Amino acid sequence: MKCGENENEVDKSTDPNLLHLPVTDGSLELFRHFAKQINLEDIDREAELIHWSHEHPLILFDVQKDDDINDEIMLCDGCVQPISFPFYFCAQCNYFLHFSCVNLPVELQHPIHHEHLMELRRGIKFYTLFRCAACFIHQNGFFYGCEKCEFFLDVKCALLPSSIAHQAHKHPLVQMKGSKDLCSGSGFNFSTSGFKCDECKFKISHSSAQLPPTIKHGWDKHLLTLSYPPFSDHPDEFHCEMCEDEINPHRWIYHCRDCDQSFHTKCIKDYYSYVKYGGKLEVNCHPHPLTFVRMVRKRTSYYSCGHASDIYRPIFECGECNYTLCLKCITLSILT
Ligand SMILES: [Zn+2]
Ligand SMILES: [Zn+2]
Ligand SMILES: [Zn+2]
Ligand SMILES: [Zn+2]
Ligand SMILES: [Zn+2]
Ligand SMILES: [Zn+2]
Ligand SMILES: [Zn+2]
Ligand SMILES: [Zn+2]
Repeated sequence: MKCGENENEVDKSTDPNLLHLPVTDGSLELFRHFAKQINLEDIDREAELIHWSHEHPLILFDVQKDDDINDEIMLCDGCVQPISFPFYFCAQCNYFLHFSCVNLPVELQHPIHHEHLMELRRGIKFYTLFRCAACFIHQNGFFYGCEKCEFFLDVKCALLPSSIAHQAHKHPLVQMKGSKDLCSGSGFNFSTSGFKCDECKFKISHSSAQLPPTIKHGWDKHLLTLSYPPFSDHPDEFHCEMCEDEINPHRWIYHCRDCDQSFHTKCIKDYYSYVKYGGKLEVNCHPHPLTFVRMVRKRTSYYSCGHASDIYRPIFECGECNYTLCLKCITLSILT
């Protein structure tokens, strides 16, 4: 099967400020846009500061020194993306924040929730997850929230500019509120928000707009590429390798050319891709501290608490004893 070559892309030279999606490193690209808007360059880089999100002072790391090079990928506790210079750091807690995340506006009047101001917050505990109303990903970084409506947006989705370009469409797209229309990418209707082309019937949900251009997944040894119709030479009926249901040839897919395998975007999308793991916790029901980890088992399995889970969920684990607790039980065992 051949995938479209996307000759319909918006010309990148027309407007140099237009954000072109998809991007591999979503938050960095977005922050570049954000930095232009609020002139991050003009903000003083204090060597040490107290930030609302953390109980200890944070220290600035401004430029990379050779001996600082560390292969380990460290994640920002604000946007849960790999850290990059300049950033602030608390060594005691392994707490990182991009300079741009330190300087995020604490309040936002957002076009997709304009009835109330949204406040920049983070979960009460490091393992408190929220689900972004726009991209549906569960996360433990910063969010813009309206408590009254229980409406939460992650930083990335909240900062998406009002117009973007997407590789799948030849015209720029503008932000819109949710509607009953179907997303041209996934085929689902989008309740919260998305982007539309004023000239055509093309509309995509926030969730589709932010799908990464490639995904690595256990089901295929190669990188899977986000691919858009029209697809040529595809069989009359083609199926998602994962759920085995049919794929609508007019929707976006993830595809591997080498293996000729295709997947629904919803099946391959990682709904826990912005979770920072590694935090430790003492609990009443186990003698050792438990670590916040991601469960990576192929099938449904049972935790020590008796609850079952599907794959790839965040859990707490004592590696030594092979003892595991689900997030719900953690919340209860701390309270008792
Ligand atoms: Zn960040
Ligand atoms: Zn700290
Ligand atoms: Zn989001
Ligand atoms: Zn509200
Ligand atoms: Zn159009
Ligand atoms: Zn599927
Ligand atoms: Zn492959
Ligand atoms: Zn143990």
